[in-house]
Amino acid sequence: MKKPPPASPPTSNETDPDQQPDSLDACRRCDLWRHATQAVPGEGKRRARIMLVGEQPGDGEDLAGKPFVGPAGKLLDRALEDAGIPRDEVFITNAVKHFKWELRGKRRLHKTPGQREVQACMYWLERELQQEAPAVVVALGATALKALLDDAHARLQEHFNQPLHHEGRTVLATWHPSYALRAPEQAARESAYLDIVTALKHAGRLAAGK
Ligand code: SF4
Repeated sequence: MKKPPPASPPTSNETDPDQQPDSLDACRRCDLWRHATQAVPGEGKRRARIMLVGEQPGDGEDLAGKPFVGPAGKLLDRALEDAGIPRDEVFITNAVKHFKWELRGKRRLHKTPGQREVQACMYWLERELQQEAPAVVVALGATALKALLDDAHARLQEHFNQPLHHEGRTVLATWHPSYALRAPEQAARESAYLDIVTALKHAGRLAAGK
């Protein structure tokens, strides 16, 4: 696969976990920038009451430079619609801003980011949390939950759809949309989808102060 050029020229080829970059394009806090097309920032309504946090960009997001535009994004759109929440009323981002992948044949397949990469990218997630100041943050999957709680041992099952007050905001956890696409059994996929819709409805009520 031919890789499109990066959005802007890199400022350095050295990875430096202590770097404090001003822009995502300049970020070298972990190694993930090396093999990604570009960093994918969060986007959506500024200062939205609800922020959704996924794990990392996928193949389509890496190419488009936008979060949740691939198959998981389409499922999330449907879940938001079923929950009665317009997508343009929320802010959507990922815990990790560069796509981590491995080549299988000709396909770039998702690889789960390591805790060191999640930790390095907290620099950006914290900025987004401060700038957008959401009342409710929905963690889509375990990686997002670990990042939001800054706890490498946080378990999705323990916090599933249970509102948790953390650093002045409410955190609610549910499945990542890709689980509702890829769980082996159809019943599990359907059940995961309904869980996501339930969590989004719950987030909507919490954001409205109900
Ligand atoms: S994944 Fe995050 S911390 Fe690592 S290089 Fe990309 S933006 Fe920087």
